[in-house]
Amino acid sequence: MFHVKHSKYDVVVIGGGHAGVEAALAASRMCARTALITLTFDGVGVMSCNPAIGGLGKGHLVREIDALDGVMGHAADAAGIQFRLLNRRKGPAVQGPRAQADRKLYRQAIQQAVRSADMLDVIVGEVVDLITEREKLTGVLLADGSHVPAGTVVLTTGTFLRGVIHIGSETRPGGRWGDAPSNRLAERLDDLDLDLGRLKTGTPPRLDGTSIDWDKLQRQQGDEDPTMFSFLSEKPAVRQIDCGITHTNEKTHDIIRDNLSKSAMYGGKIDGVGPRYCPSIEDKIVRFADKSSHQVFLEPEGLDDDTVYPNGISTSLPADVQLNYVQSIAGLEAAKILQPGYAIEYDYVDPRCLDSSLALPKIDGLYLAGQINGTTGYEEAAAQGMVAGLNAACRARGKPPILFSRAQSYIGVMVDDLVTRGVNEPYRMFTSRAEYRLSLRADNADQRLTPLGIELGCVSGRRRVQFERKREYLDQAVSRLGSMSFTPKQLGEKGIVVNHDGTRRSGLDLLSYQTISFEDLLYLDPRLEDIGHDTRVQVARDAIYASYVDRQRLDIAALERDQMLIIPRDFDFHVVSGLSNELRAKLTATRPDNLGQASRIEGMTPAALTLLLAKIRQARRRKSA
Ligand code: FAD
Repeated sequence: MFHVKHSKYDVVVIGGGHAGVEAALAASRMCARTALITLTFDGVGVMSCNPAIGGLGKGHLVREIDALDGVMGHAADAAGIQFRLLNRRKGPAVQGPRAQADRKLYRQAIQQAVRSADMLDVIVGEVVDLITEREKLTGVLLADGSHVPAGTVVLTTGTFLRGVIHIGSETRPGGRWGDAPSNRLAERLDDLDLDLGRLKTGTPPRLDGTSIDWDKLQRQQGDEDPTMFSFLSEKPAVRQIDCGITHTNEKTHDIIRDNLSKSAMYGGKIDGVGPRYCPSIEDKIVRFADKSSHQVFLEPEGLDDDTVYPNGISTSLPADVQLNYVQSIAGLEAAKILQPGYAIEYDYVDPRCLDSSLALPKIDGLYLAGQINGTTGYEEAAAQGMVAGLNAACRARGKPPILFSRAQSYIGVMVDDLVTRGVNEPYRMFTSRAEYRLSLRADNADQRLTPLGIELGCVSGRRRVQFERKREYLDQAVSRLGSMSFTPKQLGEKGIVVNHDGTRRSGLDLLSYQTISFEDLLYLDPRLEDIGHDTRVQVARDAIYASYVDRQRLDIAALERDQMLIIPRDFDFHVVSGLSNELRAKLTATRPDNLGQASRIEGMTPAALTLLLAKIRQARRRKSA
């Protein structure tokens, strides 16, 4: 039946996007014989939309991927042309590292990692069929008729399954700009009787930077002390640049409003559901009708590339309307569009049919990762790729699955959300999704996950040695600080003011006060001077959060006990601060009888439930007082 038969692989990964690359590299690090099959090698590591990695919640995922020796953090550090730590003024738990990347350098870094990986072959081709024998996957069939036998298969085809590109009323088949869709494989998935749905996402037009009047624009610089993604990186690898900032205005909004019926999103041509958190400019004008202006970041796509990505104006309006509204914006009066914005609609598989290792129990040996599971974003895709790649390798080699818990990682939060709740719009990571977010910080991703990576054997010797040294320094510092003991009076004599409650305090206790720094402790014991800068920073962060983390654990335990807690009929959900307006509206409309019912409301997060629990308890205490 098959023209050519390739040799057998332990793991075959279909797709060279962000999920596929992490899956293939993770499997190869686990010493599984791995093949990455993708449509073109040039497309490996392509950023389909924004030239940036990280952000709130997403930056946490990149750090976790890095802690397990994945490639995304390294590539972002190698290609980063502007690093910014988002939420810098808030606590470390919700700070998110972000970098704008030079597209070409990012792709080169990823391709280099793929090329140099041991145990990994790249096969360029289109997978058109999954070959099964008695519900067990045995390999894949390529469009050229060749057969690649496999122990396990990871499917990561992103937006390519029955992808359709929309620009105004124009539609054309496409996996993304310049790529054909994957229709034969989509038809094959139909035969497997999977629960498929349609989602959509959009991207803005790309501008010619030489046609922008930069002098008119406000500038945004990167951080002076850049925060790198990889725990192994020290500083940016290439020159850093500024971005421009401009704003839409009444005229822009009028043009868009007048042409809404021509938008593919609003003209009724797209059935799929789009990402609420990444709205198109049409969405913004309709949903936030009272706003007369929206911010637009003008992000250069590379150091030797004049293309500019206008972040904030993704669209599916016709090309002439796009040009019209772009040129109504300050600084863009003479802007040229190099590539129009567009929307893409594609099939996804309901992730509730997967288990927590991202395996599809229905077909033995098949794993799914990335946008195909209803997520959006490079980081979400890469993190799933890591989970599926590690598990496919374990499976192929007869080892038990590797499961990530919600208490251990954002990766665990995402996988659990996907496989238990499913999606009704493209899923994107936020810090608010993690109930343990005070302990799941970007800064301690290595402390949480690298020991697992060492145990699994999926991290390099260099990372292991560096991590073990860091852990040794931290342990020593914690033990020295923990054994210090001072009365409030002794502290006062050294200029450190605490409550005179008679309690002796250790160095760790003192660091848990946000007002006391490590440097203050040097007055108490100058020998602490020999503790290095990085260790000081980490030990202080861990100390600040220690008490919150303990409290959080108790909250979660209480939550599990309180599933049957009755919600009073007259309870006012609007008094629960911290809940989104949307959740308040849903709770008010649904009026759940108890906390268990509230937990099953679409969009409810464990963090929101904790807030609700506290408020119900407070209301009951007040009533009984
Ligand atoms: P992809 O990166 O899409 O990779 C899929 C891979 O599969 C490709 O390498 C392709 O060649 C390969 N492939 C497909 N079919 C086959 C086959 N049959 N055989 C072999 N190989 C195959 N994310 C955001 O966070 N915010 C946004 O605003 C945003 N906007 C977007 C707008 C557009 C127009 C697009 C296309 C994507 C957008 N994204 C956005 C999503 C982001 O690009 C994806 O989430 C991410 O790339 C998904 O990664 P992936 O690995 O799952 O799939």
